[in-house]
Amino acid sequence: MTNQATSPPTTAETTAETTADLWSSIDALWTWLEENRPIDGDQGGLLLRILKLSEEVGEVAQAVIGATGQNPRKGVTHTWDDVQGELCDVVITALVALRTLTPDTREVFARHLARVTERSLGTAPAP
Ligand SMILES: [Mg+2]
Repeated sequence: MTNQATSPPTTAETTAETTADLWSSIDALWTWLEENRPIDGDQGGLLLRILKLSEEVGEVAQAVIGATGQNPRKGVTHTWDDVQGELCDVVITALVALRTLTPDTREVFARHLARVTERSLGTAPAP
């Protein structure tokens, strides 16, 4: 057992805390969206949240084009930090859409990640 007053958190403690923050933040964002849904009748907000995911993917492409200066008229308009931020937006938006589909977001994601990992690496990750 670590002494919380004098020892820095271990990597496992930091990872557990970050994971908890991730899922509680996704839940908080979903709750906020549910309380501020402008349109009723789109299957509980799911359709617009999936449409939002496409928008965020487009912003990743826009940032990569901007970071590499691919548009001669515009030049370099973004940084790779911008690309990182846009990729994070994609992940957040996807998890909020998943939360809209099921309250078991964390478990559904964990099972799927384990399946993908096992399929690709031939072994499930250690718990
Ligand atoms: Mg974005």
